[in-house]
Amino acid sequence: MSGVCKWLGPAVVTSLLAALAAWPQPVYSQTEVTDSRFWHGPERTRLVLELSTAATYRVFSLDNPKRIVIDLDEGRLRQGFDFTTSEGGSVAGVRTGRPDPETFRIVLDLRHAVTFRAFLLDPSDAYPHRLVVDLIHEATAEQGVSSSLELREEDYLVVIDPGHGGEDPGAVGGTGAYEKNVALSIARRLKRIVNWDGRMRAILTRTDDYYVSLRKRVTFAMTRRADVFLSVHADAARRKTAQGASVYILSTDGASSEMGKWLAQRENAADLAGGVDIGQQDPVLQRTLLDMGLDWKIRESHELGRALLGALNEVGALHSREVGRAGFAVLKAVDIPAVLIETGFMTNPVEEKDLQQELTQERIAGAIFRGLSRYCDADERCPRRTREENTYVVAPGDSLRLIAARLGVSVSDLRRENTLQSGTLQIGQKLKVPL
Ligand SMILES: [Zn+2]
Repeated sequence: MSGVCKWLGPAVVTSLLAALAAWPQPVYSQTEVTDSRFWHGPERTRLVLELSTAATYRVFSLDNPKRIVIDLDEGRLRQGFDFTTSEGGSVAGVRTGRPDPETFRIVLDLRHAVTFRAFLLDPSDAYPHRLVVDLIHEATAEQGVSSSLELREEDYLVVIDPGHGGEDPGAVGGTGAYEKNVALSIARRLKRIVNWDGRMRAILTRTDDYYVSLRKRVTFAMTRRADVFLSVHADAARRKTAQGASVYILSTDGASSEMGKWLAQRENAADLAGGVDIGQQDPVLQRTLLDMGLDWKIRESHELGRALLGALNEVGALHSREVGRAGFAVLKAVDIPAVLIETGFMTNPVEEKDLQQELTQERIAGAIFRGLSRYCDADERCPRRTREENTYVVAPGDSLRLIAARLGVSVSDLRRENTLQSGTLQIGQKLKVPL
């Protein structure tokens, strides 16, 4: 694949002028690379370079062996920063060099052919100037996240959307825990519960620690003709004592509370932190669906939200007993019932610790599943229950503690109800659920 150059007009001119002014001495008004990281997703490997200034750069590819070359004009590594060789995804190794005194070169040795895209991001709250280089796997370009689960036309499909990821940590707790990790863990558990139950089918918009743009999350659900969209998050607030779960749906006319307004601003800014080239945004996100379907969608989302709040209330504290409304970009462009669940507060020290616990995550995922199930009971599009409400079938990897957390009951009640002497369980074993 032949190389493509990308120039930044004004920046190039400035840098050329600077170079001429200082000629013949080399110019040292340099762009320093201060940090770097790789994110490996199913569709792309992303390199993020943190820079001291907006750089003038060129990115191109070379063959034999396949490699991507990033040239930074007047670039250098910050002293003490070591460009550690990072392997994984498409990248077999990283080298640096200086083809001429003014150019700092980073070479990414590739495992396989990629197409690439590079863009600069302005500084934001959390980050300085960044140069993002995406290596898009050619085999999977234009494909969605593949799912090992086979989907059938008649499936009632639940798209679970773990918030944030990769470059975008989401809310950060006092001891440094990330919302993106909590959201992914709860979403994975929820997916497992839904698919084991078998009545509905669940898939995730991201399956690991990489960023997916808000637009992609939406198109992911739309192209698969999903029936329900659940975005899973954990909250932040200035007040450290703020606690409990909340559920939001889309509002087309302002937020229902100050909190909702602030939250929507924060969640909608995810693309900025996640490293999305805003020039590439699809207008679909700006468009509000003001057609006949909107009333139906809002009414159904509200029903779903109420069912979820009811179930979450049975296992933990609620931040608000009402379904909140706010203008979330990720809820805007889907035309199916869609909610955003804030599972607790990363900024509350007790909840930050709790949300990282396996049993808490399982308890929350179980509650979301029960809320979803109750909503499904009332939705004629949804198939009937595959098993009785008071029966639980032991899944691979289950333990009494996990099952109890998932069902929102105590281990001792579960034991008593089923007269279990030992803790040994068989896959497929039927347990009575204590009421
Ligand atoms: Zn979030």
